[in-house]
Amino acid sequence: MKKADARKIVNLLKEAYPDATCSLDFKTPFQLVVAVMLSAQCTDERVNKTTPELFNRCKTIEDFANIDINKLEQIIHPCGFYKNKAKNIKLCAKQVLENFNGEVPHTMEELTSLAGVGRKSANVIMLEVFGIAEGIAVDTHAKRISNLTGLSKAKEPEKIEQDLIKTFPKDTLKDINHLFVWHGRNTCIARNPKCKLCPINKFCKHYLSLTKS
Ligand code: SF4
Repeated sequence: MKKADARKIVNLLKEAYPDATCSLDFKTPFQLVVAVMLSAQCTDERVNKTTPELFNRCKTIEDFANIDINKLEQIIHPCGFYKNKAKNIKLCAKQVLENFNGEVPHTMEELTSLAGVGRKSANVIMLEVFGIAEGIAVDTHAKRISNLTGLSKAKEPEKIEQDLIKTFPKDTLKDINHLFVWHGRNTCIARNPKCKLCPINKFCKHYLSLTKS
């Protein structure tokens, strides 16, 4: 796809979803780290219902490092995979305190050195906390839309991210994840995409194949 068409896609999605932003609630950088960890295999809505109690109990990074693991597991239980997530939250808090002077780091290399933080999470944290759009967080929506539209044939998020980075103009990278998430939730819905109403259907290989047959 030409960069000009990729920009058209961004503009059309921006028109359709002018309010597309991060839907996780947080007030501090470390709260976002925790919210992103909890959002793995869980909806943002569920995370936002769970974090108020957690953030009320853990006000500092030290609190996250020191919270009783059983209590932490109990609070985050609704988000699923609570044992692993609880272990990672505590370890990550310790690593931020010991390795980064209590400040959430802002580079991909540093962020991905933290327990429970992969490339997707690091991209979200870099963008939402530090305004750095170095890459694109490829979640389930971004993956599905990229495959359906033909923006990427790859299955692995890292490869899809590289395809998207090559395709979209640099100044649009900060918008792609939000727009794809909102598009995936509202129009390009996994089980029932509303292709006829889709603002980018003329650029979509899936739609073009449907209209040909
Ligand atoms: S045309 Fe259909 S499959 Fe393609 S992006 Fe739009 S909703 Fe998704």
